[in-house]
Amino acid sequence: MGGATTNLKLIDENGLRIDGRRADELRPMKIEAGVLKRADGSAYVEWGENKVLAAVYGPRECHPRHLQNPTRAIVQCNYNMASFSVSDRKKPGPDRRSQEISKIISEALEHVVLTHLFPRTSIDVYIEVLQANAGTRCAGLTAASVALADAGIPMRDLIAACASGKVADKIVLDLRNEEDNFGTADVPLGLVPRTGEIVLLQMDGDLSIEEFKTALTLSTDACHRIYEMQKDALRRKYCIAQAEIPASVAQPMGEPAASQPAADEGTNVNNSNDNGQQGVQ
Ligand code: UDP
Repeated sequence: MGGATTNLKLIDENGLRIDGRRADELRPMKIEAGVLKRADGSAYVEWGENKVLAAVYGPRECHPRHLQNPTRAIVQCNYNMASFSVSDRKKPGPDRRSQEISKIISEALEHVVLTHLFPRTSIDVYIEVLQANAGTRCAGLTAASVALADAGIPMRDLIAACASGKVADKIVLDLRNEEDNFGTADVPLGLVPRTGEIVLLQMDGDLSIEEFKTALTLSTDACHRIYEMQKDALRRKYCIAQAEIPASVAQPMGEPAASQPAADEGTNVNNSNDNGQQGVQ
């Protein structure tokens, strides 16, 4: 960011961007819930060339103990960018940027998690960026809120996040790396779609008030589209699980479940107990 000069034509005479998108177009996106067996909840987001995993543990005993809050849970996020996620190898381990992103994502998530239900505990959120191409904090927050829902943590709503910015004097949605590097503003936004609350808002660069309003409108509209994809990812996981349960429960007692699909380790379905009865654990 900062408008460094480039020979790249960031927006062509037809108003199309370097990857052929219009100003208000998102990069292709895919969200999957429940991708990790060891975590309490998880999600994977592919967003353009970004590949981001989120894993959730908790609520569990808060460590370090001095961070315990006797009235509510705390949300501790750890955002990490893998060394191989960017073209110049990134030095492994935490840096100022990852600490900042971890903090703003924790604060955003604390707005939606019903923390008062779990005093003295910690809800731990791990975000691993496997491949980066600008917009990883938004992808991370979007993935984290699906992972929290997948972990069954009570929340007021999901959070959907997306950035807008200014590239070649035009306000555009969802900047990719070249636009981020050679554009003049980047405004990531996290939204609680049901209430319209903004729980994350940052601005790198300069925008006039009118430009800022346009960026806000673009990001808000996109967040509502992303919200539908988040809910769809959760539906896909839990509708599949639900579809398996009646099939095994419906099997008459004592009869072999020969035609049942094998229940995989990750579901709660157990085809028979010690007495040979069909049941759900
Ligand atoms: N980036 C990089 N090396 C770094 C940090 C960032 O190459 O050490 C790239 C990466 O593609 C990232 C982009 O710069 O997605 C924009 O980073 P920014 O800090 O704006 O955060 P983001 O847009 O990913 O939320």
